Amino acid sequence: MRLTNYFLPLLKETPSDATIASHQLMLRAGMVRQNAAGIYTWLPLGHKVLKRIEQIVREEQNRAGAIEMLMPTIQSAELWKQSGRYDAYGPEMLRITDRHDREMLFGPTNEEMLTDVFSSFVRSYKDLPKMLYHIQWKFRDERRPRFGVMRGREFLMKDTYSFDLTPEDARKSYNKMFVAYLNTFERLGLKAIPVRAETGPIGGDLSHEFVILADSGESAVYADRDLVEMNAPGTDIDFGGDLQSVVDQRTALYAAADEMHDADAFAAIPEDKRMEARGIEVGHIFYFGTKYSEPFNAKVQGPDGKPSLVEMGSYGIGVSRLVGGIIEASHDENGIVWPASVAPFGAGIINLKVGDAECDGVAEELYAKLSEAGLDPLYDDSSDRGGVKFSRMDLIGLPYAVTVGPRGVRDGVVEVKDRRTGERESLSVEAAVAKLTG
Ligand code: ATP
Ligand code: MG
Repeated sequence: MRLTNYFLPLLKETPSDATIASHQLMLRAGMVRQNAAGIYTWLPLGHKVLKRIEQIVREEQNRAGAIEMLMPTIQSAELWKQSGRYDAYGPEMLRITDRHDREMLFGPTNEEMLTDVFSSFVRSYKDLPKMLYHIQWKFRDERRPRFGVMRGREFLMKDTYSFDLTPEDARKSYNKMFVAYLNTFERLGLKAIPVRAETGPIGGDLSHEFVILADSGESAVYADRDLVEMNAPGTDIDFGGDLQSVVDQRTALYAAADEMHDADAFAAIPEDKRMEARGIEVGHIFYFGTKYSEPFNAKVQGPDGKPSLVEMGSYGIGVSRLVGGIIEASHDENGIVWPASVAPFGAGIINLKVGDAECDGVAEELYAKLSEAGLDPLYDDSSDRGGVKFSRMDLIGLPYAVTVGPRGVRDGVVEVKDRRTGERESLSVEAAVAKLTG
């Protein structure tokens, strides 16, 4: 992409209502624009990152055996009356009436809808297990939308629902999602830790929130440092292994947010391993048995010929919240520092003397070669000053910036800067291309 053809509306001033780094940076870098409280337009740069995150989430769901589908955003109130949640959900639910005065709502989640779909098609245990998911916009009329896309009202969520014959089978589905989540966050360059979460009336230990550590996080997190390191980038888990032992190993180490915190258990951890921090919830997995299969009478015929209610779980990831979450975890005083896996462009090219035949030639050559290699470069071919170009590139946080200037061109080199480390290297065009694509 050539910058002069792109739409990158940067802000010079930091809007005063943006109090945390990710919100400020997303506005300044022209990623989003607020339309109403908690409702955002995803501008091209933000949209690219959102789609890259969504794709990683999708690939890891597919790898775990979940099947993608798409349910609507607008739902009928009938479904929610059937589960008893129409009243229970309260003012967070956006209620709508259509022209025939029928009660509708903008879906805050999809347990009811998918249980209804499932129960109208599946009759036999032979069709189980099944995990179905979609990636769709949700609406929750949050009391206090804030922190930009991190607590929006309209937000993009991946939600998966598992259907099994027995609680033991449901546990296997839960473990698959647990591992899929570890792998997903690892690919996103995040250290996400699974913390025990409240399970409500069902009880048991089958609910975990996945949190990433950031000072701006809304919840206090207490954890064993070993657990944090165990989930560091570069630790993909193979589904061919024993998933129960992976889950056991992670859940044996202490990690809890405020509500589930046990001060005595925490104090028993050696002091140098004890970590108290703030966290952002980026995912939540839940086993809830027959809570929804009961009201929807979602039964399958078991091997003994008797009908039994299906055992269910649901598993959410905040895709749009992750855009802000990743920035919280990865930025510096000059701007965003994208992990390569989600960067909106693989590299930037800065031409310091647009209009100079030699600089233009080298920049075009780089642009062609990096594009051909699939790196999707952003070429700053504008007539802005060098300083403006450098700070813009730092702000939008692409992994590498390659600068083409008259002096370097004379010596046959360009300068490659690594955004994360700040290291600069003078390289020939061939060597620069090899470094970035190798
Ligand atoms: P929170 O405690 O942050 O309000 P929640 O527990 O109500 O979230 P879930 O119902 O577990 O959220 O939804 C699954 C995921 O969707 C969450 O883990 C989070 O990443 C994301 N999410 C929930 N609410 C919002 C929101 N208002 N804006 C952006 N993402 C959200
Ligand atoms: Mg939650």
